[in-house]
Amino acid sequence: MEDLQTIARKYLNMLPKGSAMPLPQILVENSPESDWNGIAIWEPKREIKGTVKIQKRCMDDTRTVERLIAHEICHHWQHYRIYEEGEGGVHRSGHSPASYWYAAAQIINELEGDDNFITEESDASYVTKNDKQFYVMIMKNGKHEYGWIWFSRVTERLRRQLEEIIRAVPVAIVKTDRDAFLSSNAKLPRIAIPSEEDESMSALLAATYDMYARKYSEVELPNALINAKTMG
Ligand SMILES: [Zn+2]
Repeated sequence: MEDLQTIARKYLNMLPKGSAMPLPQILVENSPESDWNGIAIWEPKREIKGTVKIQKRCMDDTRTVERLIAHEICHHWQHYRIYEEGEGGVHRSGHSPASYWYAAAQIINELEGDDNFITEESDASYVTKNDKQFYVMIMKNGKHEYGWIWFSRVTERLRRQLEEIIRAVPVAIVKTDRDAFLSSNAKLPRIAIPSEEDESMSALLAATYDMYARKYSEVELPNALINAKTMG
């Protein structure tokens, strides 16, 4: 997993003027009794005004950490605009469709290609396991080397990238909920290859590829996704 500051900066930079905004301090808190997984605080009298806290119990799952930080970064952006730049009244706070938080979440979800990446409850519900299915596409990179990407929803932009891949090489397309595939380096449009030490990932990719790989044409892509086999 990338460090928390790097993840936070990535999402803040996706937002208008975000790259010019300071990052919040990011703290990992361990209070098992709390009912929140992430929280964003603004303290105008402090030198670093924004603070984002993430519960330690969520730190095992990269995807959960990314979703939590992205949710709280939307609040940080919201706080900055309301309190630091004086750009809005009470209706801009909270999670309502009029809020800055909502506008920010829409932007990031569009870029992530996933409507449910940031949700209103994504910092409240206690999720350690990813219980949602997503797609995995596996391709051969070299003679004995496999690459993979994963995605849960296909936007126009991502679709063009998938088409480019299937035009070039055979691929295996499956649906799964296996955490092993959920590397942030493999989130479409990025293609990941397993590290040399990661033999179990290499083996998983090879076995899945052998079982499901075939050459698709562009027009077959929508059906290939609909008919993708579910892998446990
Ligand atoms: Zn929130």
